[in-house]
Amino acid sequence: MLTGIIQKYGEFLPISSGTPRLSLCEGSTPLVRLRRLGEETGAEIYAKIEGANPTGSFKDRGMVLAVAKALEEGTKGVVCASTGNTSASAAAYAAAAGIRCAVLLPKGKVALGKLSQALAFGAKAVCIEGNFDAALQFARQAAAELGVTLVNSVNPYRLWGQRSSAWEICDDLSDAPDWLIIPVGNAGNISAYCAGFEFYKETGRSTRLPRLIGVQAEGAAPMVRGAPVSFPETLATAIRIGNPVSADKARRAVELTNGQFMAVTDQEILDAQRKLACLEGIFAEPASCATAAAFLKLAGLGKMQKGSRGVLVLTGNGLKDPEAPMHYLPEPVCVPGSWDAIREVLSR
Ligand SMILES: *Cc1c(COP(=O)(O)O)cnc(C)c1O
Repeated sequence: MLTGIIQKYGEFLPISSGTPRLSLCEGSTPLVRLRRLGEETGAEIYAKIEGANPTGSFKDRGMVLAVAKALEEGTKGVVCASTGNTSASAAAYAAAAGIRCAVLLPKGKVALGKLSQALAFGAKAVCIEGNFDAALQFARQAAAELGVTLVNSVNPYRLWGQRSSAWEICDDLSDAPDWLIIPVGNAGNISAYCAGFEFYKETGRSTRLPRLIGVQAEGAAPMVRGAPVSFPETLATAIRIGNPVSADKARRAVELTNGQFMAVTDQEILDAQRKLACLEGIFAEPASCATAAAFLKLAGLGKMQKGSRGVLVLTGNGLKDPEAPMHYLPEPVCVPGSWDAIREVLSR
């Protein structure tokens, strides 16, 4: 039977006998070999399908631990700021744990699927004027003044749980890959992967650290520019963040692994989404597709080494943001319900 990450990797996580074994069977996501995307590079490429987590994004890996530890400490409820996926995940685990959840969202900038999830799971959702960075300040204040637990990635248990994805990749490949490309928003996840890979190497479970390549959207690229961005803008709303909380950790991760930060445009992200879907049968949300965009860009520059082995971390499910493909694909043709009309369209 499938278990969640507290059971699967409990020995590597900061839990005690008093930590509730909370689980929605998060983790154990597929590592799918990509055979067509970038095949001309001669690299061995995999996608880590984090959209296969219970609420459709990697956020579940850290949230299960954050909520379990909050329960252990006797919390009344949880609060978070979110570009969408954190709120969906927090709301789901709070529901499963029987505690209250409040989410602060930047108004008009949360993909429909994510908002719908937070509401369905019974969270109190507050849309605020301002971007994610502003929402996070208010979430910190709410935690301090209302005595609830903040479950943004400043909560250390979030990043602990998120290390589990790096462990799964090493377990599946029998070692760490040569490189790993991952989208960077608040910069927690890239830091968590780095810590996860470091732990496996230090304990002899793997032999190397992968080069970590952190990808941002051109309009929200503080890590690439080396300074906060006041008005981040991108259609990849999950990484629409101008002042990443884990910037220092992420910078260290990239330096330690001889990696890099890079930016891709929204157009490159949408092109990559279409290619992933049409060439590989994988539908990931725009922020996740930034990894494929970065890969294709590096491949175009001849920078993907032949025979090297790498992973694209596809952080969230395409269904989260069902409107994204409408930006570049035509609507279906509508015809009267007659075979003649249908045949005419199908034989074009
Ligand atoms: C949260 C999120 C990110 C960014 O992760 P950070 O840890 O904030 O850098 C990327 N993609 C998706 C789909 C996300 O939900």
